[in-house]
Amino acid sequence: MNYNPKSLKAEEFIHDGEIKQTLAYAEENKNNMELIRRILDKARPQKTENGYHCEGLTHREASVLLACEDASVVEEICAIAEEIKQAFYGNRIVLFAPLYLSNYCVNGCVYCPYHLKNKHIARKKLTQDEVRAEVIALQDQGHKRLAIEAGEDPVHNPIEYILECINTIYSVHHKNGDIRRVNVNIAATTVENYRKLKDAGIGTYILFQETYHKETYLQLHPTGPKHDYAYHTEAMDRAMEGGIDDVGLGVLFGLELYKYELAGLLMHAEHLEAVHGVGPHTISVPRVKKADDIDPDVFDNGISDEIFAKIVAIIRLAVPYTGIIISTRESEELRTKVLRLGVSQVSGGSRTSVGGYAGYDSDERPHDTEQFDVSDQRSLDEVVCWLMENGHIPSFCTACYRLGRTGDRFMSLCKTGQIINCCHPNALMTLSEYLQDYASARTKQVGLELVEKELERIEKDSVRQIAKENIEAIKRSDRRDFRF
Ligand code: SAM
Repeated sequence: MNYNPKSLKAEEFIHDGEIKQTLAYAEENKNNMELIRRILDKARPQKTENGYHCEGLTHREASVLLACEDASVVEEICAIAEEIKQAFYGNRIVLFAPLYLSNYCVNGCVYCPYHLKNKHIARKKLTQDEVRAEVIALQDQGHKRLAIEAGEDPVHNPIEYILECINTIYSVHHKNGDIRRVNVNIAATTVENYRKLKDAGIGTYILFQETYHKETYLQLHPTGPKHDYAYHTEAMDRAMEGGIDDVGLGVLFGLELYKYELAGLLMHAEHLEAVHGVGPHTISVPRVKKADDIDPDVFDNGISDEIFAKIVAIIRLAVPYTGIIISTRESEELRTKVLRLGVSQVSGGSRTSVGGYAGYDSDERPHDTEQFDVSDQRSLDEVVCWLMENGHIPSFCTACYRLGRTGDRFMSLCKTGQIINCCHPNALMTLSEYLQDYASARTKQVGLELVEKELERIEKDSVRQIAKENIEAIKRSDRRDFRF
């Protein structure tokens, strides 16, 4: 079996031999400063007539940087990551929350508390009334964008149930609130089901690979449909075939050697680009956390915060146009650090239990159905304020996919730097909605000053004028959902 990024067979595009050769090449060249310098130069954003252009890096080049331990090189990697982040994403950070629908699961994933053999976790599946109550609670926090999560169970959570929940979520309009983008993180499924999800109006389809190492994958997923490595690994190709062109990749760091995982992850991105002409919309970087029945120390490939930050920075260099997502699995301190290095989306005010939002105060969290411990337990309001105080613009924007800017259309706007003309004013308008409808007095004060200042940075006079008028309308009326 040869390495072939264009193949549709998992073991040809995630080729174990190619990964091993890549790691050997990276090890041999980790002190080859001439090569490293060339790779860093290639990664740096180049100024063009329209803005910036970024080459990105191959999995081999990225692996050499990951192997290199020279402190000044690591510093430079981080500096370039910051440059790329500023060039393409500016200081905006998109906010979202997970919504757990059901923890019934027939799989045996050994790191996940929802595994079938866990008899002491309470099993729960939301009714449509409960979905409505959760959505109202999330809207009352100020959320506009959700990622729905569910275990895999064809009896309790069939695709019809997921579709019904999506429908319910989009139908709830409480006060000035609505959920405008539902991303979906459910188990690998068929082309037909992906088509149904597409028709239901989902945003990104997210599926974490967990590990790219086949042998380890088989051991960590000993039973259930998820045991099928090829079916899981080829899921994004089926999603694309079903018409979903925004897909989100991820590795669960801690399960396998991180160097292997980074090479596999980037090969997966190269494969999507080679076959479908569009790379992943997002990459998530979760780490294994403590959970009911799960002790993360059992997995001996845990990575330090330092390595974690280096991985985030290298992903930023390798796939400059792909969003990077970091969840509340990580602490405030680490989130502060990696936000600068290229993260573009964070969750806030998250609950990882089924039915964890409705009926609970912001400092109260149910644990009985929880998927994992949340490190960052702050409310959305606190997260929004913290982002602004750290120089970021919290954004609740969902415009792109609603205006058909998905897949390669999104990527081409992003690559030519034009996306900033939409994203920056959209971020300010959606932040203004948040400040008007949900923010605490302090957050509102910090936010209003920020919006005022940032409006002046909009280059086009006409766009600046419209954004200002829309923000005035938000302040003075119930008109909402303006977008470019
Ligand atoms: N059931 C779906 C599947 O199998 O892909 C996706 C939903 S699952 C709720 C979302 C993700 O949570 C998994 O893909 C896994 O990476 C992550 N996860 C599971 N157990 C975890 C743990 N103990 N700590 C951190 N993340 C975990």
